[in-house]
Amino acid sequence: MNVFEAVKQNLTTRQAAELYGIPVNRHGMAVCLFHNDKDPSMKVDKRFHCFACQADGDAVDFVSRLFGLPSKAAAMKLADDFGISYDNRQKHRIKPHIREPTPEQRYRQEESRCYKVLSDYFHHLRTWKQQYAPKQPEDEWHPLFVEALQRESHIEYLLDVLLYGTAEEKKALVAEQRKEVMNLEQRFAEHPDEHDRGSSQRKSGLDR
Ligand SMILES: [Zn+2]
Repeated sequence: MNVFEAVKQNLTTRQAAELYGIPVNRHGMAVCLFHNDKDPSMKVDKRFHCFACQADGDAVDFVSRLFGLPSKAAAMKLADDFGISYDNRQKHRIKPHIREPTPEQRYRQEESRCYKVLSDYFHHLRTWKQQYAPKQPEDEWHPLFVEALQRESHIEYLLDVLLYGTAEEKKALVAEQRKEVMNLEQRFAEHPDEHDRGSSQRKSGLDR
């Protein structure tokens, strides 16, 4: 799809006008930029049309006149500003900028995923510690209660590092915990029951 078709299919003149800071009222009218207009006399919708000066066209014409650009440059500006992809010879040069996350962005994503998974886990551990605590001294300990006792403070420590550690400490932790995070994600994806049971029992625990 070339840039003109892509723009035409994906956006209206009204969206373009609004992006470039031209107010359009709720009747779809704007003050015309192409003549000395006082009251809004330009209808702005899929296309634009001024009832006073007869300026008329589509989103590309609008941007072309607004910025004094040739049509193709106007269409490309719209495509870039709205993140619309289209076929052109530089596609392989432009695309990576928009689509591929940088290593920094990728790391940030991994770090926040790591934090989320560990804090969910921590929340479960705290729930389990209460819910599965033995009621009588002779009760056998529930495995989730044991797990909570063993893991809670360590996971809390990891979360502290992720919150308050230096960039290097966080990076090292994220790399170190990569496997653990994957295992936990898998565990909670495979056993959503464990998940639900934890939170619903927590609720009943609070009622007591
Ligand atoms: Zn006009």
